[in-house]
Amino acid sequence: MINSSSETILEISDLHASVEDQSILKGVNLRINAGEIHAVMGRNGSGKSTLSKVLAGHPSYKVNKGKVVFLGKDLLSLEPEERSRIGVFLGFQYPVEIPGVSNLEFLRVATNSRRKQLGEEELDTFAFEDLVRSRIKLVQMDPAFLERSVNEGFSGGEKKRNEILQMALLEPVLSILDETDSGLDIDALRIVAAGVNELAKPENAILLITHYQRLLSEITPDFVHVMSSGKIVRTGGCELALELERLGYEWLEEELSSTKQS
Ligand code: ADP
Ligand code: MG
Repeated sequence: MINSSSETILEISDLHASVEDQSILKGVNLRINAGEIHAVMGRNGSGKSTLSKVLAGHPSYKVNKGKVVFLGKDLLSLEPEERSRIGVFLGFQYPVEIPGVSNLEFLRVATNSRRKQLGEEELDTFAFEDLVRSRIKLVQMDPAFLERSVNEGFSGGEKKRNEILQMALLEPVLSILDETDSGLDIDALRIVAAGVNELAKPENAILLITHYQRLLSEITPDFVHVMSSGKIVRTGGCELALELERLGYEWLEEELSSTKQS
């Protein structure tokens, strides 16, 4: 789905970040244009979730160097809520449970805050329920989940579907989905993938973070990046994901260390 005249949505330059004084990201460069789906793959501990949390503005992660520009704005100078309002969505690897807050109300507040930013009218409870009921079909979720507290007691698969529902309501410009496939059985994986494919549009972009190839057989990325020790060490098309699946991450690490030596 590459759009040749596409505008740049996100540009990450030489991003260095640390958590608890431990340096994790060590110079990430990545450009994402409108209409593109990018996948970031890599071993556990390579820094993938750190990248997503830095982009979302998680307070535990400290940026030491580098720049992130989102739609021409300096993303790193914005509060997390502001990032969300202007269209950055993060689907967490481990979605948080919020006991005592109804899922419906949570979704309504988030959606209205985004709509306000877009200059659209805010929705009252009734109008919002209509919208939710139309979008909930996309993820084949039982409307009973709207009445429950946010993610409380939801299974792994239900949490991930709830994340895609949030995405469907917020209509983000950039969706960062961290390990959306983890903990999903094949049916839930297909539902989530179909939802993401439905929401991928020429004017928005998606960054999928995954360490398995299986999600990528349901969602075809335009670019695959491999992260290792806090850096993107290789970029290719979707064939790179297949190669990794076949040969493992060691193959790439060996190849990279032999090219360094020669
Ligand atoms: P990935 O998502 O690729 O598995 P992460 O970004 O979660 O990798 O983690 C990268 C490294 O950063 C790991 O060594 C991890 O232990 C460390 N790390 C991440 N978050 C924290 C944290 N909140 N506190 C301490 N270390 C962390
Ligand atoms: Mg992770």
